[in-house]
Amino acid sequence: MPMSKVEWSIEEAERIYGVSSWGGGYFKIGANGNIHILPDPKNEDMRIDFNSVVQEISQEGIQFPVVIRFHDILRSQVVGINECFNKVIAEANYSGKYNGVYPIKVNQMREVVEEIVDAGAPYDYGLEAGSKSELLAVLAYNTNPNSLTILNGYKDEEFIRLSLMGRKLGRKVVVVIEKFSELLLLVKIAKELNIEPIIGLRSKMTALGKGKWQASSGDRAKFGLTIPEIINAARYLEEEGMAHTLKLLHFHIGSQLTDIRAIKDAVNESARIYTELHKMGFPLEYVDVGGGLGIDYDGSKSTNDSSRNYSLNEYVADVVYGMKEVCDLEGVPHPNLVTESGRAITAHHSCVVTEIVGEIKADGAMLDTSMCENEHVLLKNMRELLNCLTPEQNLQEVYNDASEWKEQAVSAFKLRVVSLEELGKIETLYWQIMRRLQLLYKDVEFVPEGLQHLDFSLSSQYLCNFSIFQSAADTWAIDQLLPVAPLTGMDKEPDMNCSLVDITCDSDGKIDKFVIDRQVQNIMPIRSLEPGKKAYLGLFLTGAYQDVMGDMHNLFGRLNEVHIFSHDDDPEDFYIEEVVAGSSVQDVLSIMQYHPSAMAIDVKRQIDKQVANGQIPPREGVKWTDFYENCLKGYTYLKT
Ligand SMILES: *Cc1c(COP(=O)(O)O)cnc(C)c1O
Repeated sequence: MPMSKVEWSIEEAERIYGVSSWGGGYFKIGANGNIHILPDPKNEDMRIDFNSVVQEISQEGIQFPVVIRFHDILRSQVVGINECFNKVIAEANYSGKYNGVYPIKVNQMREVVEEIVDAGAPYDYGLEAGSKSELLAVLAYNTNPNSLTILNGYKDEEFIRLSLMGRKLGRKVVVVIEKFSELLLLVKIAKELNIEPIIGLRSKMTALGKGKWQASSGDRAKFGLTIPEIINAARYLEEEGMAHTLKLLHFHIGSQLTDIRAIKDAVNESARIYTELHKMGFPLEYVDVGGGLGIDYDGSKSTNDSSRNYSLNEYVADVVYGMKEVCDLEGVPHPNLVTESGRAITAHHSCVVTEIVGEIKADGAMLDTSMCENEHVLLKNMRELLNCLTPEQNLQEVYNDASEWKEQAVSAFKLRVVSLEELGKIETLYWQIMRRLQLLYKDVEFVPEGLQHLDFSLSSQYLCNFSIFQSAADTWAIDQLLPVAPLTGMDKEPDMNCSLVDITCDSDGKIDKFVIDRQVQNIMPIRSLEPGKKAYLGLFLTGAYQDVMGDMHNLFGRLNEVHIFSHDDDPEDFYIEEVVAGSSVQDVLSIMQYHPSAMAIDVKRQIDKQVANGQIPPREGVKWTDFYENCLKGYTYLKT
């Protein structure tokens, strides 16, 4: 069914799927109708055809679904934020420096952290940790003595000792106090070990971030000190002779900030706190504006929950100029600026590729509906309705009649008046009428209300080989929109609509929100499946949080990962740098306390017993034993 009245083209495909709008310059639809990856958005000539990547993955024998990481994108995002701050700082004659950190919670994968540290090295870009495990990781990986290591989150004694160990290693480790009691503990241990800490205070802000994470600020925020607590903390450090260790003021008003005004507001509030503390005799060196830099998941550039109404440049300018203005008015030196952007750094670099493995049609099987003797009048009426259907009729009326008769037929069936066969025929005719109505309506401007749902009720559900709970947790948990698009074939007009279901035994395992033509819709236009041809879908912008928050619902484990680097001299412009195997069945079973090797022995014993009883021939017994063991070692997803 044509989706538009305009002739199909790549521009139309762009409009429908919005690839350029959410792609951040890294993804576009190429002239051949495939998604192209531009690892360096400034160099249009360097293009990787997504289809070549998928082909190579298949040829390598790597099983789908896979996570694909484009390391160039990760590097480019790190360079982008640093260059942008440096540029705006220079333009503004701002006297502080930019000292960004990457909060590893957003994606703790070692390869991701290593790549970010490496790309950020020329800028002294640092890391942030929010738990003891993360702290242990950042202590090992952030070895640059000039970059910051920022420690947020609730802390115990061990956490504080580890942070002071970082000081002994010559690192700029900043302990951010979330709760007053942590300060007492820190001072006590620092004195005991005779190590000078670097202390930050997290301020509970009144400026509210709008969006899904707005509870991160305000009076009921989980983290941070109130204004009286901040003053008490500073005075306490002074009494302890440690005022000079207070170096950073921190805030974080929530992730995915959709409205630039919230950022301006919070920067202004923090600037006021910073300048006042300065005048009280606490010359802090850093203001840390936290995370929250948003991503335009739906490509609308709006204050929708899944979008943002500002660019990176605007964000940076608001932070730099906002701080400068207040400091200049108060005659206080400009602090160094820290951001903890995670989502914006990692979201684009990874995506999930899943194969469509089946179709659940609304009107699957059809029965022969030719006339029989003594058939029920409802069946006869339904057939006549279909046979007499013309465009000149009042189509709404046809729709109403068909729907009503179908309902009546079900009641009549329950009352033993209509037979199973007759009911089957009535349903067949009903769906034929709906298909016909859909065709007749495609050219009219105004579609009556009852018929607006036709596209939805006639759409298919595409069964995709993956688990939402593992690969796109936020689409399920918090209704986050993630862009979905076919990887190929967008040069041809879509001829049907679909929503997606995963392979978990959970009816929540579905995606039925798509951004189509910049609007949220419950179906996505798509090409119908061609027999014998594999079809893949990409789930994009999964690099932030999704990669690491997934769970093992139904024991579907982690995905195979393929790491891609661009390479100018390569005929396809890329190479697979690394493959990281996903979870095997025995991996996920072990996590749940099973003992796969013991299970294999048990099953073998049972097979041996059947062999001894003569129930299974010996050769077959060996085959079953091997088969069980191989399945234990295999991938958790469908083998296609
Ligand atoms: C989660 C978090 C971040 C990262 O936020 P993004 O919106 O992903 O940039 C930064 N700082 C703190 C304290 C956080 O809790």
